[in-house]
Amino acid sequence: MQQDGTYTIAFDDPGEYDRDMLGGKGFGLVEMTRNGLRVPPGCVVSTHACRHYLNEGGLPASLAEEVLERLAQLERRTGKTFGTGPEPLLLSVRSGAPISMPGMMDTILNVGLGRSAAIALADATGDTRFMADVLFRFHCMYSETVLGGLDVPERAEFDEVFAELGTDSDAGTVYDKVWQWCQDRVVEDVGEAVPEEPRQQLLGAVEAVFRSWNTRRAVTYRDLHAIPHDLGTAVVVQSMVFGNLGADSGSGVAFTRNPVTGEPGLYGEFLSGSQGEDVVAGVRTPLPVQQMAETMPAVYEELAAVCARLESTHNDVMDIEFTVEHSHLYLLQVRAAKRTAQAALRIAADFVDEGIHSPGQALQAVTAEHIRHVQRPGFAPDEVAQARDDGRLLTTGVGAAPGQVSGRLTFDPSLAEERAKGGERVILVRHVTSPTDLHGMIAAAGTVTATGGSTSHAAVVARALGSTCVVGCSALEVDEQASTVRVGERVLRDGEPVSIDGGTGEVFTGELSTTEPAEEHTRLGELLTHAHSSADVDVLAKVTTPEQARRALAKGASGIVVGVDDVLAAAGLLAEVSKTLRGGGGRLDTARLESVLVEQFSALLAACPDVEVGVRALDVHADELAEVLDSTQAFVEHPQLALPLGEPELIKAQIRALATAAATVDGSTTPYLVVRNLTDPAEAAALRATRDELDESDRLVVGAYVTSPRGALLASEISAHSEMLWLEMRVMQATMFGIAPRHLLAREPLEGYVHSGLLGTDPRQQIDESVAPLLDSVAEAHANHPQCPAGVRLSAAVSEPVAATLYSHGFRRFSVDLDELAPCVLALGKAAFAESGTRREQATNGA
Ligand code: ADP
Ligand code: MG
Repeated sequence: MQQDGTYTIAFDDPGEYDRDMLGGKGFGLVEMTRNGLRVPPGCVVSTHACRHYLNEGGLPASLAEEVLERLAQLERRTGKTFGTGPEPLLLSVRSGAPISMPGMMDTILNVGLGRSAAIALADATGDTRFMADVLFRFHCMYSETVLGGLDVPERAEFDEVFAELGTDSDAGTVYDKVWQWCQDRVVEDVGEAVPEEPRQQLLGAVEAVFRSWNTRRAVTYRDLHAIPHDLGTAVVVQSMVFGNLGADSGSGVAFTRNPVTGEPGLYGEFLSGSQGEDVVAGVRTPLPVQQMAETMPAVYEELAAVCARLESTHNDVMDIEFTVEHSHLYLLQVRAAKRTAQAALRIAADFVDEGIHSPGQALQAVTAEHIRHVQRPGFAPDEVAQARDDGRLLTTGVGAAPGQVSGRLTFDPSLAEERAKGGERVILVRHVTSPTDLHGMIAAAGTVTATGGSTSHAAVVARALGSTCVVGCSALEVDEQASTVRVGERVLRDGEPVSIDGGTGEVFTGELSTTEPAEEHTRLGELLTHAHSSADVDVLAKVTTPEQARRALAKGASGIVVGVDDVLAAAGLLAEVSKTLRGGGGRLDTARLESVLVEQFSALLAACPDVEVGVRALDVHADELAEVLDSTQAFVEHPQLALPLGEPELIKAQIRALATAAATVDGSTTPYLVVRNLTDPAEAAALRATRDELDESDRLVVGAYVTSPRGALLASEISAHSEMLWLEMRVMQATMFGIAPRHLLAREPLEGYVHSGLLGTDPRQQIDESVAPLLDSVAEAHANHPQCPAGVRLSAAVSEPVAATLYSHGFRRFSVDLDELAPCVLALGKAAFAESGTRREQATNGA
């Protein structure tokens, strides 16, 4: 369509089309139309037009004419006429970006209601009340979204004023009365009137949708989800169908499976006698879609069949918006369903069982972040039971995004933001959320609303944020002005603690303490088995206590690694040991260190008698130690401590302690010691010589823990003198960027910095190109010196791209933080499947 110099496509036009041009919504509607599903006819104005609008500050010159030509086509197609009778054509003008941004941009319904059309609508339906209803909705939406009105009249107010309108009132009089009443309000509000001319309404609405690309909430949403700001939105112009025509009409949202739990079976909500925005806005609480099986069985059956078909065309769980007009089902939108982490895991595992996806495909649908979510802590079950017994269960709504969190009751989104910034956990409670509350929802640990169903704005946004959410707590009387919420006799005030369960929908007063998730998600286990066997990797867990070591092994770790400084810190011994190191009178008390370590190592090794246990030697430069040790002072007294092998007695003490501990354990443990910050083959040789000076019974495997570019470049030479090699990714990346390594562990300062485009690569998320040759050097060392296995240590949250890059460089040994075991295995499994997929493709293409 670009080639013709035109900007629009009708849903049923033949030819090429793509999602970037049509936006997700337009693309889905075109696709459904072509597949013969019942979609109200319409056309799409492409994102090209939006980009033109954004760049040039105005609509393309030819656009108005083109849209009006499409309109004429639509009139022929529907047999209705725009702006007049006998059957008036009304339109919806909808936004739809290439990447879904639910509820973030504007949509205007019922466009085309001039006087003549309105009267014709009343005549055609024989229902003047219906016309008044549609007119009111149109006026409100238009004045709010196109004219920026703030003081839009409330539904209740309208109902009151127009209560006396009978169906027998003259349509013209009703139109004039409603229109004038609405116009007075909007003129007073914004000093401008809604145009009466239908074509002007249409063009104004199209432009408003383009403009809505840059509203604050849309920009915030894109920032949060790393969606480029220059994509632009498409506009869908579609003939209206009416769900507000009585009991055999209505509108709803359906998911092909439950997006909260992943359970198979149709899931969703339906509100009879409503237009779709009533459901999405959460203004009235709808009923479960299953009820349609009783109220309109034929439509329900058709809906179920359509859902099954859409799921199997896309091989994914889909989210469908639909409207029923006089018992006819119309499809208004289809997209891949946003789902909770729990649902994503369940669906991926079920898809493998049902033969819909291969294990490799199923893993692609799961992210490391999903796994982190299901592993998050929850309420202590006995405390929940106690709270119920004590009558602390305030109310139960609809659990819309799982999670169990406590926090301070907060009614105002900006106050929620402020409190969260000050380190407090807050629960945002609203009568209903709107997109302008987004900043508060981001800041809050959880959100509660009084109205709305599980497809309302609050629910959708919370699921996307991965935060906890309960909606539809109809017993809650929220008074946002007074900052109170009432349930029957009980009144809670701003700042009081509350606890919510986004799975069960329960809201408790007071705080509940949380515990680690008791047991691993079984479906997750199945997926990880696929990942593990395809990747064929060893992933060791970094731990500090025997308890953690046991947990790591229970979670499937191939072994454990520990840092001596961490072990000492966890045992509360760091300060004491560093004192012995600083010593009095210039003497280093390594004997004291040795005896302390024997005790700690014995407990640790007893917890994991038969697996690889890697111990990283005490590093006085390690962050925690540097502080306690007051390094500068220590280095004045013992300058030799500043270098990795400066004090051989210290190394010997640690090897001896480890060997002594190993001797106390039944089993086949062969722990080893690696020394951090080695950069030279001579150091590796010296380390081995130091070990060889010990009694035969104390000699353990020793090796290098490389953190620097020099160490990596000389890895082959170092490996020739070593029995083990670990490479620390974080310090290596930080060094290449000249940033202190601890800044790679936190969200800030890098987040903002990378976001402003000051670094082309985020060193926490991607391996920089400058590091690639270093990786090759280490991988080569491993290949050349099989007696010295090489592994990579990944700190903090494992980034999927980092894991994939390492996998492609040939690394098969990793050590990660305890909670990152499963995310790391997943990332490596995905990398392995992607690689074997590419190989298969190459083989096919070659053949
Ligand atoms: P969003 O992107 O926020 O979901 P939509 O463009 O999907 O906005 O519009 C919101 C709701 O308006 C839809 O769910 C649907 O119920 C209603 N709607 C949109 N187009 C039509 C139409 N042609 N006929 C009837 N209702 C419509
Ligand atoms: Mg929609």
